[in-house]
Amino acid sequence: MLGDIPPEELGACDAHDHLFLRSPALPGQELDDTEAALAELRAFAALGGRAVAQWTPWGMGPCLDRLPGLSRRSGVHIIAATGMHQAKHYAPDGLERHYGALAGLFVRELTGAPVKAGMIKVAGAFHRLDDHARHVMAAAAEAHHATGAPIGVHLEAGTAALDVLDLLCGTHGVAPHRVILGHLNRFPDDGIHRQAAAAGAFLAFDGPSRAHHGTDWRLLSRLAALADAGHAHQLLLGADTVTPAARSAADGPGMPFLLSGLRPRIERELGSGLATAVFTENPARAFATRWRRP
Ligand SMILES: [Zn+2]
Repeated sequence: MLGDIPPEELGACDAHDHLFLRSPALPGQELDDTEAALAELRAFAALGGRAVAQWTPWGMGPCLDRLPGLSRRSGVHIIAATGMHQAKHYAPDGLERHYGALAGLFVRELTGAPVKAGMIKVAGAFHRLDDHARHVMAAAAEAHHATGAPIGVHLEAGTAALDVLDLLCGTHGVAPHRVILGHLNRFPDDGIHRQAAAAGAFLAFDGPSRAHHGTDWRLLSRLAALADAGHAHQLLLGADTVTPAARSAADGPGMPFLLSGLRPRIERELGSGLATAVFTENPARAFATRWRRP
């Protein structure tokens, strides 16, 4: 949000999170408090956190205008998103009217001034891709080809990863290493994870949370299995704090836990090399963009 930086300056990165977010699907749980966002960023920075990617897309209250100030005050690099989530996250009055203009909208947010997004967020449906997802992903691919920006994918409950790669890469020609698949921890299926990794995509796992506690305990073994299969350079981690209650100042564990809880465990059990790859080296490549101007 403060302009492009060389990838090696990104530093320890929370690769999927939210400082601001609102959705009709999460009434009363909006992330809209700037000072609370700053406190979370500062707690993350105090542990060595240097960067965060906010995956909140267009129309869900990403508050792009507030992010540069937060970045300056916290010292944390912030990558923002354009794109579009599932239809249920928007008012039910005709998202379809935007379909024809989506690619242009995404490109404007990726190339605009004074602040611009650095990634395109899209979303699949549960074990499939619905018509909405197909429209949005086609537009995302077009905006990617026009700008070079990476595409981050919300996989619903971690599912439909291979369908997404078929569509984005097979049909729309996006290079697999420009796709970041999110939430695979929520569907810890070894075969799917390995196939998605073998295709060349980045795999972004979430840190622990109450909402996804059922699969949290598999996180370390999933990372280990993928690293053993030769995919250490494709793994990312984010806290994905979606509600105020998920933050460290509330019920947690929040952004800081990535560095206070997960990183030491990964260092201890899987090695410091993998920890450095997951938190620093991989995000620097996943979010690096050689910008094209349409
Ligand atoms: Zn998210």
